[in-house]
Amino acid sequence: MHVQTLHVAFDDTDSRTGRCTTHLAFKVVEHLKKEEGAKLVDYPLLIRLNPNIPWKTRGNGAVCLRLQVQDAGRVIDHIRQAVEEGSAIGSGANPGVAFLQSDSVPAELQKFSALAMCDVLSRQMAEKVAKAAGVQYSTFGNGQGLVGSLGALGCLLDGDHTYELIAYRKPENCGLPRVVDKERVIKFSADTYPNTFNNYDRNHGRVLITPHGADPVFFGVRGESPEVVASALPALQPLEEELDGWTIFRSNQGTNMHLQNEIRVAGAKAYTAGHVKCRVSGKPYAIEGGHVIFTVEQDDGAEMPAAVYEPTGLAKVAIKLEAGDLIEIGVGVRKGTTKHPKILNVEYLSVLELAPAFDVLNPVCKMCGKRMKSEGRNKGYQCDRCKHRDVNAKKIFVPREREIKTGLYIPTPKAHRHLTKPLQRYGIEKSS
Ligand SMILES: [Zn+2]
Repeated sequence: MHVQTLHVAFDDTDSRTGRCTTHLAFKVVEHLKKEEGAKLVDYPLLIRLNPNIPWKTRGNGAVCLRLQVQDAGRVIDHIRQAVEEGSAIGSGANPGVAFLQSDSVPAELQKFSALAMCDVLSRQMAEKVAKAAGVQYSTFGNGQGLVGSLGALGCLLDGDHTYELIAYRKPENCGLPRVVDKERVIKFSADTYPNTFNNYDRNHGRVLITPHGADPVFFGVRGESPEVVASALPALQPLEEELDGWTIFRSNQGTNMHLQNEIRVAGAKAYTAGHVKCRVSGKPYAIEGGHVIFTVEQDDGAEMPAAVYEPTGLAKVAIKLEAGDLIEIGVGVRKGTTKHPKILNVEYLSVLELAPAFDVLNPVCKMCGKRMKSEGRNKGYQCDRCKHRDVNAKKIFVPREREIKTGLYIPTPKAHRHLTKPLQRYGIEKSS
């Protein structure tokens, strides 16, 4: 038997009832190491795909394993069976699993993967790419999971990336409350700053590393290196229960990978993600719930409304924008309905240039110094007090100081999506 390189990816094994794609990866890797002598040639990859896809599972995460194995056939059989048995098929999961036996990852697969971060891809297109790239695959349920599987399989993650250590509970503890000492999380967070992120939301006093459902994840800690996330184990291990084990994933979480491409407002496709450089073209206004709406205009004159949602914490910034401000926004395109037009859901706001703002005042009376009243459009002004009339008087524009500054505004950690790049990561991105 000679050693072969085998790439494996699976997606959509979980459902709302609480199974978990990363847990399946943890179990599969444990088995393959012990029973098949398999070696991982990279950390298991946890790849988050376009978060705007409406039919996604909770986090739209897929897993890819790059392995060296003795007997690829047996490994493929084992994984296929594990995905089928370990998925919540029938209660919302539509898993796909994909295998590639090759030393390299074909270009068309890499291209498909890049699109899967920000676009809406069909199962048919996935099948076509799989065939062209020599990928074997199995699908269950409606098979939508094939898109995510290929998206992960083709993702080399050779640019910016992060790590997440995920610790798992023993089956008998799943569903019980997770006891995590808030003070230890705060201390860990401070001790490892800026190399771990989203452990704790200071603004809301909330621990972010633990999920809340019945799934087998005890906690997940995200950071810049395998070593720093591994240090969470001694620092945060629960005293109340014994854990089942843990895996360190390499991931595109916290990288804004889905926002890399530029969206053209004219013809923007529903559910796609990207960024838009534009001018604010209408005064922002608040709607019920504290959300803020404003219109933006791209350099070709195309306009679209943009929405900043209250829970992101960005609404209080957006309301201070003025027509003419130059901004860049990370967005997801919300589908239009019969009642509402297509809208850009804002994920981050970068204020590039502030337009000068003015208060517009009526002219002052030359005779007595009181502010005059308009006589109507183009009819000049008259003074209330001394009745002096001036047909040539003009409105006065008084420069007003802006209440916001140029710079980057991102959502509060509690409102972060898996892919949202936290503020502390700006400037420390990896290039390989
Ligand atoms: Zn007067």
